[in-house]
Amino acid sequence: MLPISFEFFPPKTDEQRAQLDRTATLLKARGPEYASVTFGAGGSTLSYTGETVARLHREHGIDVAPHLSCMGGTRREIAELLDGYRAAGYRRIVALRGDLPSGMASPGDFRYAAELVRFIREHSGDHFHVEVAAYPETHPQADDALADLRHFKAKVDAGADGAITQYFFNADAYFRFVDDVRRLGVEVPVVPGIMPIGNFSQLKRFSDACGAEIPRWIVKRMQAHGDDAESVRQLGAEVVAQLCRRLLDSGAPGLHFYTLNRARPTLAILDQLH
Ligand code: FAD
Repeated sequence: MLPISFEFFPPKTDEQRAQLDRTATLLKARGPEYASVTFGAGGSTLSYTGETVARLHREHGIDVAPHLSCMGGTRREIAELLDGYRAAGYRRIVALRGDLPSGMASPGDFRYAAELVRFIREHSGDHFHVEVAAYPETHPQADDALADLRHFKAKVDAGADGAITQYFFNADAYFRFVDDVRRLGVEVPVVPGIMPIGNFSQLKRFSDACGAEIPRWIVKRMQAHGDDAESVRQLGAEVVAQLCRRLLDSGAPGLHFYTLNRARPTLAILDQLH
């Protein structure tokens, strides 16, 4: 079976919780390895991440991977979270630096994700399978692309078991990234992060902020469909399913879907893949 995982964000209202329940039920039927849940920087959604993984684990029977971002956090706070996740029986963590929320002055006890990974290993030994973030199109704040590759390697050297990439629409960027880090001696699996195209204008805003490039031909084709949401969705599913097929055919070890808590765009891609 195709190794897939799904990413959710923590819902904050009853309506959003009900939406996540519906989505989790539909997506669980596709046999994911696990579901990961994002973490808001600066502790603002700390409790929601824990609450959400607990719900997915207990009520939906899905293996979970809470994201843990260290920006703004202290060693003590992170240690408490790790102990709580361990006591709950979780075996996976996605370890990130996160971004400092505007207005927050102190970055906390950790500067980079590699330091967090090292701390997780010191504190919890080998209990957790640790995933880290990878950027085939280079992290937007990186000084240069080669330094970014070395910083990625530092996370693996610190003890990460695998990586999930930022989403991308250019398969060659992923292949190049994997070749480059293999040359640096990195052997862990690098799973492509896949962003289904649902709402195109939202995706464009998102992509500008996180440094993911949408190829001009996709932008132009999407713009040609204008407000015809159904055509945008159909074209989006086709384009992303083709990307997934190419990635898998060329050896990608699995797919991690950024679901944005909605089942339909991800299911449309999976249906085309099968
Ligand atoms: P790092 O690996 O620490 O890298 C950050 C930057 O610092 C890079 O530019 C790197 O080149 C540079 N750098 C690293 N080490 C050094 C060094 N020693 N000296 C100088 N520069 C260095 N954000 C959230 O807030 N919550 C989430 O749940 C979340 N989930 C994510 C999941 C995935 C799969 C991905 C790809 C991203 C996610 N993010 C999340 C976003 C992420 O937190 C941001 O992209 C953040 O800016 C960088 O995090 P990182 O873990 O990649 O940081």
